[in-house]
Amino acid sequence: MLADDSGAPGERADGSASVDARGGTSSDASASSSTGAGAAPPAAFACLAEHYAGRAIEIGGAGWSLELPDGTRVPHDDGRTKTAADRIASPDVEDIFALGYPTGPIVPVTDPEHDPGRVRLEPLFRATYGANAHEVSAALVPVKLARKTVRFHRRAAPALERVAARIDALLQADPTLDRYFRDLGGTFATRTIAGTDRTSAHAWGIAIDIDTSQADYWRNGPKRVWRNRIPSVIVDAFEAEGFVWGGRWFHHDTMHFEYRPELFDPRCRSAG
Ligand SMILES: [Zn+2]
Repeated sequence: MLADDSGAPGERADGSASVDARGGTSSDASASSSTGAGAAPPAAFACLAEHYAGRAIEIGGAGWSLELPDGTRVPHDDGRTKTAADRIASPDVEDIFALGYPTGPIVPVTDPEHDPGRVRLEPLFRATYGANAHEVSAALVPVKLARKTVRFHRRAAPALERVAARIDALLQADPTLDRYFRDLGGTFATRTIAGTDRTSAHAWGIAIDIDTSQADYWRNGPKRVWRNRIPSVIVDAFEAEGFVWGGRWFHHDTMHFEYRPELFDPRCRSAG
């Protein structure tokens, strides 16, 4: 085994690839077997390329990697056996899909390892949405949501507009739902996730926090027990358009919705 000297595969923005040369010794039974010459790339790659920047490359015998426009390579399988926290801290491509994202009725989350959607490939997001606050800021466009205007990344804005149309219909049917949109928590913000050095999805302009007064957050609640006050009709409206909801996480953040189309695309999910 090679020493794992890079905490986060693909994290190096200078283009020095951190793909390693192991042929897939993962303990995961679904580990890729498509490392032979001429084999098709793992299904996740074709799917990811539709939603994000990047292309599949195979390095002789080393398996598949996702090569980003700046030359950074993120391996499909970095060969490490990981806990849920490891996947979040230093993901490879397959880690994105390690937990299927559930939709449907809201259920309390009691498993501390169940945070579907919290694995984010930061190099992929940087390549797709902008490498820094200046680039992301220049890509923001206005979107009207519940009679307010927010700024959202232009690649994700059409999806948020479709959410907004669903929300408008909900508000017409039940005006009391307006209380979830009165004091929006916001969209674009250059920040890290509280208590970590990881970049928040808000830094890419692909996340929105709805009314802060209706929110529950895992760090604030009694004994960190899952709690939620957001109604399922609102959650359904976002999820139907490719947004994950922070209320599906044990480490919950119930005002938070984030555009993650790969987690709803069955072609991507089949790769998990
Ligand atoms: Zn948020």
